[in-house]
Amino acid sequence: MQFNDFGIDKRLLATIAHLGFDQPTAIQQQAIPCALQGQDLIASSQTGSGKTLAFLIPAMQRLIKQRALSKRDPRVLILAPTRELAKQVFGQLRLLTGNTQFKAVLILGGENFNDQVNVLEKDPHFIVATPGRLVDHLKQGHFYLHGLELLILDEADRMLDLGFAQQLTDINNAADHRKRQTLLFSATLEHAQVNEFAQILLNKPKRIAIGHAYTEHQDILKRFYLADNLEQKQALLAHLLQHESFQQMIIFTATRADTERLAQLLQTQHYNAVALSGELAQNQRNQIMDSFSKGQHKILVTTDLASRGLDLVNVSHVINFDMPKHAEEFVHRIGRTGRAGEQGDAISFVGPKDWLSFQNVSAFLQQEVNFSTIAGIDVKFSGIKRKTTSVKKVSKLAKSKLQPAAKKHIKRNNKTFHLAEDVGDMPVMKRKQPIPLTLIDDDNTDEVE
Ligand code: AMP
Repeated sequence: MQFNDFGIDKRLLATIAHLGFDQPTAIQQQAIPCALQGQDLIASSQTGSGKTLAFLIPAMQRLIKQRALSKRDPRVLILAPTRELAKQVFGQLRLLTGNTQFKAVLILGGENFNDQVNVLEKDPHFIVATPGRLVDHLKQGHFYLHGLELLILDEADRMLDLGFAQQLTDINNAADHRKRQTLLFSATLEHAQVNEFAQILLNKPKRIAIGHAYTEHQDILKRFYLADNLEQKQALLAHLLQHESFQQMIIFTATRADTERLAQLLQTQHYNAVALSGELAQNQRNQIMDSFSKGQHKILVTTDLASRGLDLVNVSHVINFDMPKHAEEFVHRIGRTGRAGEQGDAISFVGPKDWLSFQNVSAFLQQEVNFSTIAGIDVKFSGIKRKTTSVKKVSKLAKSKLQPAAKKHIKRNNKTFHLAEDVGDMPVMKRKQPIPLTLIDDDNTDEVE
């Protein structure tokens, strides 16, 4: 299939050709025809699959070919969970609107409110925004959504995870007319709240799932190294930096303080490293991301802040200096490399504090993991064994200690579910003095913590 099979405007085709794209990607092949027909859509696809153009091309085509519902209101609204992702979508949109009369604006939290009022007054055709700030403007009457034709939710799962449900509802209510089309993109369609929202926001949507969002990444070579402690992780990193050639690298750490500390350590070793943390002011974060994406830094050290959606084509290596708390985050982190068909390397360090997270990741990926080793780095840690003991042996004391934890352990139809706990900035850790007994004597269940 070629882009001209979609029957889209010649100018749009010329722009796509100019960007160097010959063939639509899988998500584009499926989403573009439905969206062009005006259908609502709920689609999952992995990051780096070309999903941004899958919604921008139909959006552009609509503006070129169809008469506006309103002269003043925005015609297309694109919402993204983070400022970084919104900026990236805006960047791709600007490439498409470049030679047209269509105006696009970017409305982000953390930036000057009055400047945004001024750009909204110019009646843009496209708004790309993070939900919180956009709703502030909406409530203050700086723009209206009565004429909105196309609402696009990028990474809807993350927006809901970040607590933007109310803002999405407000936006939906403000643009609630029959002619609105809605396209919802999510890393996964198996997300209860996404499905609930889809029922409210979408009208008989077509469902598109390209592969399994979490099992692809064929172009990313994954390696895991065990480490006893922080010093060994640093030694592993030093070895990799010295012995592997890389274009750009992102190193993920567990905490903000670690990003600073590690970036400084690398700088003292004369590496061009920079730290990105949520503590920085928005303009500083923007500057760092801009300079990293332009190649002015070789190494970016960050927390999960930079794990989603960002399209950085020169990142050849991702290092999980600390394993992420949630298995899904692992997939998003390593998705920063292997972009647009390039080969990428994802290297993870697994110490005692990372063990539980590592087990979650390997179960999630459904892959057998063989640990790599480096000669001269003598690692003693070899994992933490699970303890399973018969329920009959549970002493009265242990039973009473187990009560709160037992609440987290819900048994339904012979399946055991563990409710996830958010433990702040630190990776999930094992208790220092674990309660020695488990509630359920079942090989398929993990130790109760
Ligand atoms: P996304 O999934 O939207 O973040 O896109 C990932 C990358 O794929 C971006 O750098 C796009 O410019 C690129 N891309 C989008 N569509 C195509 C295509 N049809 N062929 C090759 N690369 C593409």
